[in-house]
Amino acid sequence: MMARVSGPPPKAQKLFTAAKCIGCGECCRVCPVSACSLTPDGVVTDGDLCTFCGKCAEVCPTLATEMSGRYYSVAEILEVVKKERPFFDQSGGGVTFSGGEPLLYPEFLIEVLEACGRQGVHRAVDTSGFVKKETLLEVAQHTDLFLYDLKMLDAEKHKRYTGVDNRLILDNLAALAEYGAEVQVRIPLIGGVNDDDDSVAAMATYIADLPGEKRAVSILPFHDVARGKDEKLGQERDLAALYEPGSDALQKVIDVFAGYGLTATIGG
Ligand code: SF4
Ligand code: SF4
Repeated sequence: MMARVSGPPPKAQKLFTAAKCIGCGECCRVCPVSACSLTPDGVVTDGDLCTFCGKCAEVCPTLATEMSGRYYSVAEILEVVKKERPFFDQSGGGVTFSGGEPLLYPEFLIEVLEACGRQGVHRAVDTSGFVKKETLLEVAQHTDLFLYDLKMLDAEKHKRYTGVDNRLILDNLAALAEYGAEVQVRIPLIGGVNDDDDSVAAMATYIADLPGEKRAVSILPFHDVARGKDEKLGQERDLAALYEPGSDALQKVIDVFAGYGLTATIGG
């Protein structure tokens, strides 16, 4: 069993699920800044007024309104770890620090990692790798396992789909491998984006050529999880062109990786 702990969020968010709302109006009644109003279409929040105090979510009887993101102190995280400890001691698990991007808060992360390390708790850090190399290598001194996202090798395509250059991400992966960190590379496989033969072969070549032992690779098929969250946030994105890769496509990817001496598994 792995306990997942997210660091302080860059921004709290209010989530609303219309299907769960019974229209009681409690959320609007308690809002200290009158940001919340009950309309025939459900509860509408004025984003300019809302301070994300969370009072509306506290009183919502059906969890139609929820807040995502919560601030934890190091001591509070250790309390959570203490409670979960019997479970992961039994199962050989540990704590995974994820986000967002936990390396956005390196001082906080290192403090918690050190504290967990002193208690002999296995520590995994889930990262996009889009951080300063010095920061990553400092965190590596207190981390037992990195779960490292690799999306694609093609720089132009990476920039188009993610908005950022992948040079730093690739350099950092190589730096971790050089350092001798334990790294599990995770590939979010998105139909129509990075499931074509060239993209898959490029990723397999890159991982196979990293220094150190051949790494296990996790393939995470796109499940369109983002759609549900966007709806809750009242946001819309054009995800129509993306699709979940089928089982034949997934098997093909596993076979390509095997050809490079890499064991790829689905999920993880
Ligand atoms: S989070 Fe606070 S400010 Fe925002 S709508 Fe809810 S009660 Fe009002
Ligand atoms: S408190 Fe919850 S159920 Fe009641 S109106 Fe607000 S969102 Fe809907």
